[in-house]
Amino acid sequence: MIPLEKFDYIVVGSGLAGLSFALSIADHGKVCVITKAEITDSNTQWAQGGIAAAVGESDDWHLHETDTLVAGAGLNDQEAVRFLVQNAPSAVEWLISLGANFDHNGEELSLGKEGGHSRHRIVKHADKTGWEVERTVVEAVHNHPNISVFERSFVTSLLLQGGRCIGVAAHVDGLGFRCFGAQAVMLATGGCGRVYQHTTNPRVATGDGIGLAHEAGAEILEMEFMQFHPTTLYHPQMRSFLITEAVRGHGGTLRNHLGRRFMYDYDERLELAPRDIVARAIESEMRKQSTWCVYLDITHLPSQEIQSEFPTIYEKLKSIDLEIDRDWIPVVPAQHYSCGGVKTDIHGQTSIPGLFAAGEVARTGVHGANRLASNSLLEAMVFAKSASEKLTAEDNKVELPEAIDLPAWKCIPEADSVRIRRSLQNIMMKEAAIVRTNDGLLKAQKEIEKLFKEYERLPRAPFSTHPLETWNLLIAAKYVVNGAIKRTENIGLHYNSDLL
Ligand SMILES: Cc1cc2nc3c(=O)[nH]c(=O)nc-3n(C[C@H](O)[C@H](O)[C@H](O)COP(=O)(O)OP(=O)(O)OC[C@H]3O[C@@H](n4cnc5c(N)ncnc54)[C@H](O)[C@@H]3O)c2cc1C
Repeated sequence: MIPLEKFDYIVVGSGLAGLSFALSIADHGKVCVITKAEITDSNTQWAQGGIAAAVGESDDWHLHETDTLVAGAGLNDQEAVRFLVQNAPSAVEWLISLGANFDHNGEELSLGKEGGHSRHRIVKHADKTGWEVERTVVEAVHNHPNISVFERSFVTSLLLQGGRCIGVAAHVDGLGFRCFGAQAVMLATGGCGRVYQHTTNPRVATGDGIGLAHEAGAEILEMEFMQFHPTTLYHPQMRSFLITEAVRGHGGTLRNHLGRRFMYDYDERLELAPRDIVARAIESEMRKQSTWCVYLDITHLPSQEIQSEFPTIYEKLKSIDLEIDRDWIPVVPAQHYSCGGVKTDIHGQTSIPGLFAAGEVARTGVHGANRLASNSLLEAMVFAKSASEKLTAEDNKVELPEAIDLPAWKCIPEADSVRIRRSLQNIMMKEAAIVRTNDGLLKAQKEIEKLFKEYERLPRAPFSTHPLETWNLLIAAKYVVNGAIKRTENIGLHYNSDLL
C-alpha cells in the first residue's frame, strides 16, 4: 500500500484541454496537473491555423454549426455541436482575457478562412496560434496559487474504488511511484498520432489516455475516424512539419510533378475541399504519377505577405534551402487528428463516475465522421470548461482512502519496445491509413494481436515510459482497426476501397 496524496481535482495532461479545466476550477479547490514531459510539450503547442468562432460581422453560430455538421457527414452529435459553436465566442474572449494576443485589423480580430468553413472565422496568431495559446494558459496556471504542476510525471493507471475513479498512479521523475486522489479526474492526454509512421503529432501523442481509459473499462468510440493532414513537408531533414491549411486559404495551389493543378480532377472546391478529400486526392495523384510527394505552390503571393502571414513556415523552410516565395513546397499527407476517443457527454463525463475527459482524447460527438478545421482547440476549451461548471455545481464529496495498492504495470526492455512500436507504425500506415481494404485491415488486426502477445512474452524491465507508451499505442491501434472493420460504409474519414 502507498499513501494517497489528496487534491480536489486531478488533471492528466497540460495541453489546452487540461489547463483550461485546471484554470476554470482552481478557484473551487486544490488542483494537481500531472504531465509526462515539460508543461508545454503537447499537440496544442504545435497548432498553426487557429480557433474557429463565429465572431465576424457576416457570421453567426448557425453557419458554424452547419459547416461542422457537413464536415462530420451527419454523424455528429447535434447537441454537442450546438453547444460547441454557441460557446465559441466566449471561449475566445476567455483566452483574450487571460492575455492571448491574436491578430487584429485595427480594432477588429483579423479572421482567417480554412477548408470547409463558409465564412472567415479563424481567430489566429500568425501561423503559431497553438504556441500563443499554450503560452497564455501556462502563464496563468503558474500564477494560480491553487494549481500544483508535476512535470516529467507519467500516469500509469487510473485508481478505481467501487466502480468510481478516485485518482491516478504516476511515476514522478526523481521520486518514483506516487498515488494521487481526488473527487474527480480530468483525462486530457491528447491524441495518438504516434500510432502511425507519418504524423504531425509530437512525441507525447501516444494514446495514453485511450490505454488508461480502456484498462479502467471506459467506453471508447469511433477511433476509425482518423484525420490525415493533406500537406506536411516531404523532406528527409524535417519529417512531418505541417504546412497549415491557411496556405491553401491564401490561394496556395496543389500541383503534381508535371506542374498540373490536379484538384480540378477531384472536387469543385479545389484545394479548399475538406481535408479527407484533399488527402485522398494527393494519395491518388502520387499513385498515378508514381511519386513520393506532390507540391504546394504559394509563389503567387508577394514575398512580404508570405513572411508576415507564415513567418514560422517561411523561416523553417528557409533553413533547409526552400525559399517558398520562389520554390514549390514538396508535401505528403500525414496522420493529424483523432476524431474518436473516450466517450463523453457535453459536460466531459465519461462512462465511469469521477472520470472526465476533454480535448483530443475525448469523443464528445462534435466531429462525427470528420473534424472541421480549427474546431479542436475550441472543443478542448469548451468541454473542459463545461466539465468544471458541472463539477462545481454539484456536491461530489467522495471519501478517499488514506492508502492504496499500486496497480500492476509491466515494462519491457526499450530496444524491444522500439522494435514493436516500429512494426506497429508500419502496418498502420500501410493498412489502416487513408485508403483501407478488407484484407489490409485483417492483416493489421492479426499483426496487432501478434505484437500484444510478443509484449506479454518479453521479460520485465525497470520502469521507463517508452514501453508503457507502446502498450497504449497498441490498444489505440486495436480500436482504430476494429472500428474500421466494423464500419460497413464509406463515410467521412473512413474509406475502404472494397466498399465502393
Ligand atoms: C501540427 C498541428 C497543428 C494543429 N493545428 C490546429 C489548428 O490550427 N486548430 C485546431 O483547432 N487544432 C489544431 N491541431 C489539433 C490541436 O492542436 C489538438 O487537437 C489540441 O491541441 C489537443 O489538445 P489537448 O489538450 O487535448 O492535448 P495536447 O495538447 O496534446 O496535450 C496532451 C497532454 O497530455 C500529456 N500526457 C499524455 N499522456 C500522458 C501520461 N500518460 N501522463 C501524463 N501526461 C500525459 C502530454 O504530455 C500533453 O501535455 C493541430 C495539431 C497539430 C499536431
